[in-house]
Amino acid sequence: MRLKLNIDISKKKHTIILIICISILFAVFGFLFYNYVETHFREEKQHELKAIADLKINQIAQWHNDKIGNADVLANSPFSKKAVQELVINSNNLSLKESLKERMLLCKESYNYEDIFLVSTNGKMLLNIANYHNLDITAIDKYSMYIAKKKISFTDFYYCPTHKKIHYDIVSPVFNETGIPVAAFIMRIDPKDYLYPLIETWPTPSLTSETMIVRKENDSVLYLNETRFLKNTALIYRNSLNRKDLPSVQAVLGYKGIFEGVDYRNNKVLADIRPVPGTPWFMVTKVDQSEIYSELYIIAGVIGGFIVILILLTSAGFFYFYSSRNKNIYLDLYNKEKELWQSQEKFKVTLDSIGDAVITTNTNGNIEYMNTMAENLTGWSYRDARGRKLDEIYPIRNEETGNKENNVVQKVMKHGIIKELANHTILICKNGKEIPVMDTGAPIFNADGSIIGIVLAFQDETEKRSQQRLLKESEKRYRTTLDNMLEGGQIIGHDWRYLYLNDTADIHNKRPKEELLGNKYMDMWPGIEQTEVFVKIKKSMEERIPQKMVNEFIYPDGSIGWFELSFQPVPEGIFILSNDITEQRRAVDEIVKAKEKAEEMNRLKSSFLANMSHELRTPMNGILGFSEILQLEEKLDIVRDIANVINKSGKRLMNTLNSILNLSHIESGEVKPESQIVNIIDVVYNSVELIRNEADKKGLKLYLESNVDSLYTLSDERMLSEIISNLINNAVKFTQEGSIKVNISNENIDSLEWAIIEVTDTGIGIEESDYGRIFDEFRQVSEGLSRSFEGTGLGLTICKKYVNLLKGSISVKSKINEGSVFTFKIPLEVEKISDIINKSEDLEKPFSEEIHTLHQNKPFLLYVEDDPTSIQLIDMFLRDNCTIDVATNAEQAVKKAKGNNYLMILMDINLGKGSNGIDATREIRKLANYKDTPIIAVTAFAMHGDRDEFLESGCTDYLSKPFEKNELFNIINKYIKNE
Ligand code: ADP
Repeated sequence: MRLKLNIDISKKKHTIILIICISILFAVFGFLFYNYVETHFREEKQHELKAIADLKINQIAQWHNDKIGNADVLANSPFSKKAVQELVINSNNLSLKESLKERMLLCKESYNYEDIFLVSTNGKMLLNIANYHNLDITAIDKYSMYIAKKKISFTDFYYCPTHKKIHYDIVSPVFNETGIPVAAFIMRIDPKDYLYPLIETWPTPSLTSETMIVRKENDSVLYLNETRFLKNTALIYRNSLNRKDLPSVQAVLGYKGIFEGVDYRNNKVLADIRPVPGTPWFMVTKVDQSEIYSELYIIAGVIGGFIVILILLTSAGFFYFYSSRNKNIYLDLYNKEKELWQSQEKFKVTLDSIGDAVITTNTNGNIEYMNTMAENLTGWSYRDARGRKLDEIYPIRNEETGNKENNVVQKVMKHGIIKELANHTILICKNGKEIPVMDTGAPIFNADGSIIGIVLAFQDETEKRSQQRLLKESEKRYRTTLDNMLEGGQIIGHDWRYLYLNDTADIHNKRPKEELLGNKYMDMWPGIEQTEVFVKIKKSMEERIPQKMVNEFIYPDGSIGWFELSFQPVPEGIFILSNDITEQRRAVDEIVKAKEKAEEMNRLKSSFLANMSHELRTPMNGILGFSEILQLEEKLDIVRDIANVINKSGKRLMNTLNSILNLSHIESGEVKPESQIVNIIDVVYNSVELIRNEADKKGLKLYLESNVDSLYTLSDERMLSEIISNLINNAVKFTQEGSIKVNISNENIDSLEWAIIEVTDTGIGIEESDYGRIFDEFRQVSEGLSRSFEGTGLGLTICKKYVNLLKGSISVKSKINEGSVFTFKIPLEVEKISDIINKSEDLEKPFSEEIHTLHQNKPFLLYVEDDPTSIQLIDMFLRDNCTIDVATNAEQAVKKAKGNNYLMILMDINLGKGSNGIDATREIRKLANYKDTPIIAVTAFAMHGDRDEFLESGCTDYLSKPFEKNELFNIINKYIKNE
């Protein structure tokens, strides 16, 4: 910078010197030019003066000549000569006088004389125009003197005391025949008339120029005319001849030509001096130098001004060039400074923002720079630290040895980049506080590769070190934990050698860790490489992914152990965690066996129930069917009563059977509610109507109430029907007198629509303490030998289970001897209500319970059945309405179907040995004319799922045994319409 400034200052000097030189050059040029102009001008002015002087001299000479001519004409004309001679002789000749006077007057008038008069040779007045006679004495003397010269002469200027004015007279002698003057004409001139103006006038306008006529008079010079600037000078003003600076003095002293001096005013003048030929006069034609040179001064001024402007312009040019150059230089310098500043700022900000403390020093270890973090950590401000030694600002000691570590700069300069200059470094701050730091030093090189300083970076490690400490402690803790944990822990290195085993691993391996540590895994367990364990460990080792497995391990001694193993990649290799599950495994094995046994038992139970069901239903079909026939057709009351009892008992047995089967079926978890469109009103109505007969018999009123006409939802119709029937059945069963009311309503609870069905009776009621019990399996309020109502105690249990399946709830409120209210509610699928309503018209109308009589033309039916009782029963039920053909096995059925055209086939499923009813149905369906013939499965297989199976295999409908006559009629009516 200083160098730059010096250069600038010297450049400025050079510029100024250059400007001065150029200015001097311009000044010299201007001066020379002025000199030239002045010389030229002066010469010109001198020429001008000379020319004017010449002109004046010529004019005066001319004037003199003219005057001489006039005088000559007047004096030498014959008349004048003669008349003057005669007048001299006879001065009384008046006529002559008059003639001469006339001539003189004429001459005076013509040539503009002041006066003309005639004098004698001694100067006495002879004749004048104005008739005066007094002549000045000096004039008289002059006249006689000039007359004596015998030629026309001028008297020179003289002051006439008589006339008190200056006269200038021409003396023109008149000669006689012998050439002797006899008289002379005096032609008086007033110099002011012509001569003075002639002398004084200047051909060009001038303020100071004037022409003077002087003559020498004794030791002075006399001014003959009026000077321009002094009044009354003519023949009065004079100067001493000593005044050599006066042009007039020079003139009378004989100088001719141009003279520079001072005039009577002492003004500097330029004068032309010359004698006036034919006179004693000298003419001084002069002009003030100031006037002559005023023009020159203007020119000088113009030149000077021009030079000054030129110098100024040049200087301005130079200064402009200089300043613009300087501006550019300074701009350049400013930009460079700015760039430098910015880069320094950037550098500073970068250093401040890296998070590390940074210090730079020169090679002597004197601080050159430190960032904010370094200031914070050392406690030194950069300003204070600058220039100080690094050891002073950054004193450190070894945390472990406590020794001071110095000479950081020398170390770095000697070794180059050094990381962690001293391990476990502690920085001693300015205030004495000690901070653990991690430091790095590196040399700074210049462009030619030599070291110019070092940079030291360090950071606060307080947190890191405390973390390290904590880590160590926690490592120790974990190691202890690992050593003592109940799971086996082993680490196998990348080279498959054992690196670590805990105590539990010893137990799991059944050998001490000392035997294994340092040895290869596969050497310790020969054959392991062929096992799944090894494959998994290898995968985990190579792919660095955790693996898990349960493995049966056979020890060399032949014993077996089960382990849950997990393989976790760790930096050292693989960590194997083993959990001994041998005991658990045994227990599980036993549980599995027990489960399998239970499943087997379950299968047996299901099969038992199915068989039970089938085997009970088949005979019950006969019992119920025939007892029903007896009830209807027997004439003897006693037999009819017995048939009635048989029928009722059979039905009760069937109810019990159905309840048990239902419950076992629900508990198997296989029952899933269907989602059908159901009108709850219809379901309740049907249930009520089914039981009405029973209620009537007991003299109970049974009525149905509803606040809506229909209540559609998606639900399982069979379950709903079962629940409602059960509740109404119970109500009728446990009410001796009064009424049973079934109420249906819908309600919005917690923004959900619910259907609520209440069955209220006026029966025996239930103790509150029994509310819970009655929903348990096989539980009744009155139990044991004293129980007064028949029943299995399964009805409400099944109800509750169905309600749960339908996501509803059931509850009871009752008072002993007053009656009970059973309430159950199920959610309505509200959002689907509109769909349901639209489809509601398509709903099948429930069948009438009336027993239809069949068609007048008896339809031809095939009954496929191996059980003779059933054949007989069907025959008795249908003989009046249908023509029945019977086939007792599948083959016969198919054969008969081929040979006949039955309107309907009633198909038993279990047909004893050989093909069953399903096979037969499938075969018959293959026949061209039996594609759409109704085939009704009439079977004692009434377990859950049976119906669906039969329908899927080709049956049109299903009727379970035992069935009532009206059920049989209904199903036949359904498919064979009256024609
Ligand atoms: P069951 O009716 O076959 O005994 P339930 O499970 O249907 O079996 O009923 C269990 C018991 O609950 C009944 O035995 C009876 O004691 C009591 N119970 C059910 N409904 C009523 C009712 N409407 N009034 C009085 N007690 C009833």
